[in-house]
Amino acid sequence: MTFSLNLQDTLDQIAHEADALYGQGKVASYIPALAQVAPRQFGMAVAMTDGTCVKTGSADTAFSIQSISKLFTFVLALKLVGDDLWKRLGREPSGAAFNSMVQLESEKGIPRNPFINAGALVVTDILTTRYAHLDIALLGALRRLSDAPELNWDAQTAKSERDTAHRNMAMAYFMKSYGNFVNPPELVLDNYCRQCAIEMSCTQLTQATMFLANNGQDIDRLAHAGEQFLSADAARRVNALLLTCGAYDAAGDLAYRIGLPVKTGVGGGIVAIVPGVGTVAVWGPELDAKGNSVLGVFALERLVQLTGWNHL
Ligand code: GLU
Repeated sequence: MTFSLNLQDTLDQIAHEADALYGQGKVASYIPALAQVAPRQFGMAVAMTDGTCVKTGSADTAFSIQSISKLFTFVLALKLVGDDLWKRLGREPSGAAFNSMVQLESEKGIPRNPFINAGALVVTDILTTRYAHLDIALLGALRRLSDAPELNWDAQTAKSERDTAHRNMAMAYFMKSYGNFVNPPELVLDNYCRQCAIEMSCTQLTQATMFLANNGQDIDRLAHAGEQFLSADAARRVNALLLTCGAYDAAGDLAYRIGLPVKTGVGGGIVAIVPGVGTVAVWGPELDAKGNSVLGVFALERLVQLTGWNHL
């Protein structure tokens, strides 16, 4: 897609406008380590399928990706077990909070989709069966995709979440009671808290998700030969799920305002996919009532308005 505006100027303008929104949200505090993050921060990066990258603000500051990790674990599980995933998971928006338990009982332990906590726990359960060291496997994929060998998870954040993961643990046991959980919940929760505690910058996230904008193929900026990380058909399907289920119970609102496949996290990050064009990552730790970044949602909405990057 061609566009006449200067993308750097556009991002700088959005960062400037976003300044006015500080104070409208709150940093996540239910995970004690996240409550320590300074609220007034903002970063944004855009990576194009032609390999160029434009950024503004704190685009290179690493932050806790939290639920954005659910996108990556889901893709790993899809590569491993394919359509068998759907025996244990749905693919409908939940219309409920990311950590809600209410649907699990009426739907007999089958989570609505892979991007709410219950669904992500099932995905991590599947990966725990396959990988003795899931954190190493996941980091290996992310390091390769984002050309960032230094990527890691933060032990303090993982421990902080693990020590307070009562609700997620309850959901895991609940699903186990319905036969939809294979491994010991304690072991899966260890893995889950590590994946959520991975730290990445906006720039790294745009690179790590590029395969979703590029028919399943990664763009390796170092080797100049991209890996077919996922089939083009599977990438299209992942994008459909991100559009409908990627933002908890605000998925409909974000589809209305932004109209792109997105995944949000309570660390304040959001990734957005513009199929055929590129990827966008934004970060602002202050969250709205549904757990999505206030500045991040605003920035994506403005980007789509200013660039016309919306195929709907
Ligand atoms: N680690 C967080 C949790 O399980 C992830 C939630 C999120 O980012 O939405 O509560």
